[in-house]
Amino acid sequence: MHTLVSATSTSCKRFSIFLLALLLSGCASQVSGPLRFDDSMKSRGQSGRIDIIVLHYTASTKPSALMTLTNRDVSAHYVVTDDKPPIVYRLVNEDKSAWHAGESSWYGKTFLNQRSIGIEIVHPGWTKNSNGDKGMPYSDTQIAAVIELTRDIAKRNNISPENIVGHSDIAPMRKIDPGPSFPWKKFAQAGVGRWFDEAAAAKYEANFIRTGYPDAGWFQKQLKRVGYQVPESNYFDAGTLAAIGAFQMHYRPDRVTSRPDPQTAARLMALPTTGSGL
Ligand SMILES: [Zn+2]
Repeated sequence: MHTLVSATSTSCKRFSIFLLALLLSGCASQVSGPLRFDDSMKSRGQSGRIDIIVLHYTASTKPSALMTLTNRDVSAHYVVTDDKPPIVYRLVNEDKSAWHAGESSWYGKTFLNQRSIGIEIVHPGWTKNSNGDKGMPYSDTQIAAVIELTRDIAKRNNISPENIVGHSDIAPMRKIDPGPSFPWKKFAQAGVGRWFDEAAAAKYEANFIRTGYPDAGWFQKQLKRVGYQVPESNYFDAGTLAAIGAFQMHYRPDRVTSRPDPQTAARLMALPTTGSGL
């Protein structure tokens, strides 16, 4: 009996303490003093917000480009000017989205503004034609600045080489920038972006010249493998030809025809799947 009373009284006490604690915690719902953070542990399941870099040309002069990119519904994180030496304007912080990609697709992913960094390069632009004119060359100093900037962004955000692209790569039906005078090979030689295996391409090309280039379904599969958005129609429709043109601007800028041929097929086949895409 005695034991029971004692036990009851103990549990009563415990209950009162519990009530008191509840009251106190109610009173303490407003934190007094700064929040205490602990950064000693990190989750494994996370990835960077930025996983693609898109290069553009402005198709206008520096004053006109800066006016547009600061006052309209179009923007870019960086603008590399054609001054000597070039100036790099930082118009949008990297932790914010800039409005530069528009309707676009890469490795099946869309809404690329949300996950990309946009770089505009001041350049007069190029008019698409078939006589082999690549348009005005980019100056060496401007390209050196773009390489350095792109390399730094890629390194900080751990961006794979295949995800350093031109606007034309992600929107082949609408866009032709940064144009065929953009030196993608020079970029790749500087360790920035992707390039094809030239020895393998030469071998494949010899074969395709002998056998004829593959059919539309083959081109569509290969273009899709390396990131481009293409229809799966099994014929050379407008979307497929536009993607072939975009591929040529990037990997065969000396002859942009937007038509299939043995050399284009060979370079496409020799382009490695360097990462997992987006
Ligand atoms: Zn663009």
